Amino acid sequence: MRAVDIIMKKRGSILNPQGASLTKEEIEFLINGYVSGSIPDYQISSWLMAVYFNGMTFEETATLTDVMLHSGDVIELEGFNGLTGPFVDKHSTGGVGDKISLPLAPVIAANGVYVPMMSGRALGHTGGTLDKLDSISGYTSRLDNDTFRHVLKECGFAMTGQTKQVVPADRLLYALRDVTGTVESIPLITASILSKKVAEGSDALVFDVKYGTGAFMKTPEAAEELANSLVKTAQAMGKKSAALITNMNTPLGNKTGNFLEIEETVECLQGNGPKDVMELTFALGTLMLILSGKARTNIEGMEMCQEAVNSGKALQLFLKNVELQGGNVKKLMSDIGNRRSRYRVDFTAETEGFISIDAFKTGLSGVSLGVGRNKTDEEVCADAGFILHKHEGDYVKPGDLIAEIYGKNEECFSQALPVFKSAVSYSKNKPEKKPLILKELR
Ligand code: URA
Repeated sequence: MRAVDIIMKKRGSILNPQGASLTKEEIEFLINGYVSGSIPDYQISSWLMAVYFNGMTFEETATLTDVMLHSGDVIELEGFNGLTGPFVDKHSTGGVGDKISLPLAPVIAANGVYVPMMSGRALGHTGGTLDKLDSISGYTSRLDNDTFRHVLKECGFAMTGQTKQVVPADRLLYALRDVTGTVESIPLITASILSKKVAEGSDALVFDVKYGTGAFMKTPEAAEELANSLVKTAQAMGKKSAALITNMNTPLGNKTGNFLEIEETVECLQGNGPKDVMELTFALGTLMLILSGKARTNIEGMEMCQEAVNSGKALQLFLKNVELQGGNVKKLMSDIGNRRSRYRVDFTAETEGFISIDAFKTGLSGVSLGVGRNKTDEEVCADAGFILHKHEGDYVKPGDLIAEIYGKNEECFSQALPVFKSAVSYSKNKPEKKPLILKELR
């Protein structure tokens, strides 16, 4: 086999511009050759561009995902110290104020379903679950495989980051895609996300695919295309799967930040969560309970999620997880509502009207405050962020408080405030309320 022949097969010709589907052996030859160093960057770059233009079938995407998955460690959950499933995970394509994994995992665990979660860190305008968890005093979000499985067994969910041993092919391919203009390819994104998710050992996967200014996919159509690809490819790989297409044009919830989102999580689990965060948590939770066979209908799933909160069981499991992962529960609870950066600016309305708050610009402003980072090695500030007092569609008068803004230091506001100011717009007419959940795919 020669790499050049496989590239040309995918590229096609003037008579056959769509190219042809690759076999399992051809995909294995390319990916394994790239990881081992026998196929150079320039040939893989050329193949990536051919895939970018000519796409892949679900079968090819599933094969690529499977080959990438087996380039590294695959975690075995079933049977570890008597662990038995169901194991179900959720993946979000990322957004601003998106803390859904945090209330969701204990709500599902409270219903007897294990949630093994490997999450990411904040990058660019989007937040990261691990940075939020690490803002809890003492908490460690880096677990070795055995500790991960032990925590999962003890409290029904565990939270960790990906190790270097999980899907090394993706690390190599993603870096190459980044510099060759081949990131925005649905089959390549699908294989990248799915290989990492399948490596965590879940039987079923639920995707929250976001669209809007603060999302990776900007339009509902693009989000639906990705969601469809993720669900169908996961199913082709023998995983149960479903997705929601959700709106990320404005931040989720009242609080955006690291510790601020932990605080909002506790509020959700105490039954005082914002409406949008609870709606999305329960909708994703319902799909997870249905896929794991615990709920038969959406209504039943919703009731089970609600009961996990009402009974206090989900909060109890969240606090148990904090304890098992080294966090100080007493300090966490006494920090709620009290722990704030001393650098604060109140952002008030300049004019009268119905407001909109743009998710992308809020996220960018958050990076300057210290919520997020532009480069993977930058530090984040646990106490930076926004507490929104007004939301999309609210009517404001001049001087009304729109947001408390907390920064990492005094200086950061000179960059952060003009960006947040540009995120807020005022209109004479009440904007049409867009649904948070646009569509469900199964
Ligand atoms: N997130 C991923 O993990 N991979 C992609 O290709 C895009 C987004």
